[in-house]
Amino acid sequence: MKNIHCMVFGHDFKVTRNVTYHVKEYACKTCKKQLTTSGNGNLIELTPKFKEINDVLERIHHKRILRIKKLKENQIEQKAKLQIA
Ligand SMILES: [Zn+2]
Repeated sequence: MKNIHCMVFGHDFKVTRNVTYHVKEYACKTCKKQLTTSGNGNLIELTPKFKEINDVLERIHHKRILRIKKLKENQIEQKAKLQIA
């Protein structure tokens, strides 16, 4: 059984998804047990409910990144215009 390895040596967790800068999803390479970061920073089991929450978090996070990127591009554009003038 695969789980015996985890019982003896502990789980071998790898990041499977970066939800936000602080929230990640992990899966054990051996037994496929999944964890995620909870609101207070602890690791908890990744239940379907938390997967749903993470989906929403990820969407919000990506929107924010896009907005910041656009803002920066605008700033660079304006700087370029100023240098020409
Ligand atoms: Zn494991």
